[in-house]
Amino acid sequence: MADCLFCNIVEGKIPARRVYEDERTVAFEDINPQAPTHVLIIPRKHIAGLKEAGEPDAELLGYCQLVAAKIARQRGIEQGYRTVYNVGPGAGQSVFHLHLHLIGGRDLRWPPG
Ligand code: 5GP
Ligand code: ZN
Repeated sequence: MADCLFCNIVEGKIPARRVYEDERTVAFEDINPQAPTHVLIIPRKHIAGLKEAGEPDAELLGYCQLVAAKIARQRGIEQGYRTVYNVGPGAGQSVFHLHLHLIGGRDLRWPPG
């Protein structure tokens, strides 16, 4: 989608600090990190968010989680990290291209705010 920020990052039209990419996903550093590791894992395919995803997207959603686990392993933060989808404005979703937050590298409290 031409006017989607994260589609533009996928296409390289907007710069981002990429940490991983493959044929289905791109992962890059969050511009406003909330922890020492704060990486966003996104599908190359435009999906607005989790509630807009359908059953054909099930494998892709699971794959994003596995990419997050791979990055966490590479960074040595497996003592404790979190993968999060913010779903809808009430949960803080501000970019409407599906993105999985990988947050770690510090103690994480529960429940999140
Ligand atoms: P949300 O609030 O939608 O769950 O997460 C959006 C995330 O995207 C936020 O954590 C925000 O800091 C990040 N973000 C917004 N714009 C940009 C950008 O242009 N580049 C990068 N790397 N991250 C961004
Ligand atoms: Zn998009």
